[in-house]
Amino acid sequence: MATNRTFTMIKPEAVEKGFSGKILDMITEAGFKIVALKKTQLSKAEAGTFYEVHSERPFYGELVDYMSAGPIMAAVLEKDNAVADFRTLIGATDPSEAAEGTIRKAYAESKGKNAAHGSDSDENASIEANFFFTGRELI
Ligand code: ADP
Repeated sequence: MATNRTFTMIKPEAVEKGFSGKILDMITEAGFKIVALKKTQLSKAEAGTFYEVHSERPFYGELVDYMSAGPIMAAVLEKDNAVADFRTLIGATDPSEAAEGTIRKAYAESKGKNAAHGSDSDENASIEANFFFTGRELI
């Protein structure tokens, strides 16, 4: 996948609260093009695989339970400098530390239930996009 793409998930509590449209609006207003989008739900095993990098962290079990507890919106986004610019748009992991104008400042509930995921590197953006989407959904 090109380095001008990133991957996001709108997390279960934000989907449940009906924030998906508002969050997608913030994303497009910030200049990202939506390349691919779907509503789906992770199984516990899939959430465990997706967050495997955190498997030694104390919050891993809680994170896997939460991320598989309800539907999410998965999306691939395109923009110059997509990974870094999207990390800026989502804001700090802990919403109490997130800057004004960020998705987490506006919609996150807590450090765990923090509204949106954003890939942390081009390599992970590609891996994560391919986890959710087939090649022909990523044109
Ligand atoms: P980010 O999503 O900002 O890149 P991390 O990669 O550090 O953050 O963590 C991945 C996800 O794990 C976070 O988005 C959040 O949902 C959850 N998480 C991180 N730290 C904690 C914590 N201390 N307690 C509960 N959940 C956490």
